[in-house]
Amino acid sequence: MVSVKVNSPDVHYDDVEHLIISRYSYESTHVSYEEDNNYIATPKSTEYIFKTSTTIPKLGLLLVGWGGNNGSTLTASILANRHFLTWETRYGTHHSNYYGSLIMSSTVKLGFNAQQSAVYVPFYQLLPMVHPNDIVIGGWDISRLNLAASLDRSCVLEPDLKQKLNPYMKDLIPMPSVYYPDFIASNQQSRADNVLSGTKQYHLETIRKNIRDFKSKNQLDKVVVVWTANTERFSSLLPGINDSAENLLSAIKENHEEVSPSTLFAVASILENSPFINGSPQNTFVPGVVELAEQHRVHIGGDDFKSGQTKIKSVLVDFLVSAGIKPVAITSYNHLGNNDGLNLSAPSQFKSKEISKSTVVDDMVACNNILYKEGEKPDHVVVIKYVPSVKDSKRALDEYESEIFMGGRNTISIHNTCEDSLLASPIIIDLVLITELMTRVQYKTAEMPEFDAFHSILSILSYMLKAPLVPAGAPVVNALFRQRNAIENLFRALIGLRPQSDMLLEHMAF
Ligand code: NAD
Repeated sequence: MVSVKVNSPDVHYDDVEHLIISRYSYESTHVSYEEDNNYIATPKSTEYIFKTSTTIPKLGLLLVGWGGNNGSTLTASILANRHFLTWETRYGTHHSNYYGSLIMSSTVKLGFNAQQSAVYVPFYQLLPMVHPNDIVIGGWDISRLNLAASLDRSCVLEPDLKQKLNPYMKDLIPMPSVYYPDFIASNQQSRADNVLSGTKQYHLETIRKNIRDFKSKNQLDKVVVVWTANTERFSSLLPGINDSAENLLSAIKENHEEVSPSTLFAVASILENSPFINGSPQNTFVPGVVELAEQHRVHIGGDDFKSGQTKIKSVLVDFLVSAGIKPVAITSYNHLGNNDGLNLSAPSQFKSKEISKSTVVDDMVACNNILYKEGEKPDHVVVIKYVPSVKDSKRALDEYESEIFMGGRNTISIHNTCEDSLLASPIIIDLVLITELMTRVQYKTAEMPEFDAFHSILSILSYMLKAPLVPAGAPVVNALFRQRNAIENLFRALIGLRPQSDMLLEHMAF
């Protein structure tokens, strides 16, 4: 339900075509440099027209790794919300909620009322959006366990809730998936009892058919596919194999060993016109996948959900550097006891995670040339250990050592019990809801002959991702609140509202 209606000559609600059309001046600043050491900053205004379809589709979500901790927790939480389940814990009765979802549980400042008080509305009320309760969920897993048993295996939710969810989950069985043992840790072999045989071409066609069948069986308008399966090792980038869309499709036909399961799922989704999001750190989006997505005009997003330690890092380092304090060492230890931790205990899977966790402060450091010389970075170490008994309650211990005023040192130590799947599941919901919305948005500038969709790579999803994928040449933003502002201000633009300003000028005048 949309409860925000904008009163502006620049905004038109077309009730026949079911569109919100907004005219929007995008203000930016062009900077040039003169030899006499002066920056010349020139304000620039670009006129955009945005067209957002207000028709909310019936949406399907297919999870790769459905029976994993994220997959089963997400499914359970959506079912619990849909059926208004409550459950008992030693703290009392709990009600289902979407805490941790930016869209469902956070608010944005719309403006001020007559009394000059700020008015906040839930994010989801700015634009017509799918409600997570209405998402139809399915998926694949190399483990055949039903979703009720998977939920039990995950050790995430309370026993009373699991019991109440059992009737809704016991008959949900993941579709067989592709298993190429070389890409994930060998310790995963014992759960691989639900795997497709045959060639990679056959796998591609089967996954494509699975998507089509899921869509028609559930009478869905759209399907989004999310990789929440195990972290894979990086794929080698091989000329002639995965460097272009054409070569990648040929490599699949030739059953080439370097095509990973996640790349195969991405290709299948793109060919079925279904947006694909990669929630793990590996390089699923080899150049051939990106080109294929661009050719087919299908949205993709990645990589690696930003749920616990990295999220804090992308706030804390931004705070320190933007306060003029110089982090010189960031040392992060993680220990976790879930299946993700077991998989990451293998060196090449750990390497994928280490890379995605390590790039997260680069943009914040690069933006302050008072603190850091060109190319200088803080020491940044990431350690991950598998400790079975802590199960899904991942512990993240971080130390931030910073240089402060006049040669002083400041040390901040953080101990974070992450409850991994409870943090990741609402992030998956946000990724899906925002991606779906982006498929309904078209834009046009004066130079464009007609309306077009946003670029295939959805950099707007960066807030939810550790190593954001962006179009070639675009800046990567890791700082959390800049990422959040991008989403908020884009949503505002789509309904013709100016970007959020915290100047409070109206309160500065007598
Ligand atoms: P998990 O190990 O519990 O679940 C992964 C599931 O994927 C397992 O059920 C496994 O059987 C299945 N699987 C493996 N290969 C498959 C394939 N080829 N096709 C289909 N299924 C396959 O892990 P999780 O805790 O649910 O995390 C999932 C992924 O999300 C991991 O890569 C993890 O690194 C990433 N991630 C998680 C978080 C978080 O906070 N939970 C944050 C960032 C990233």
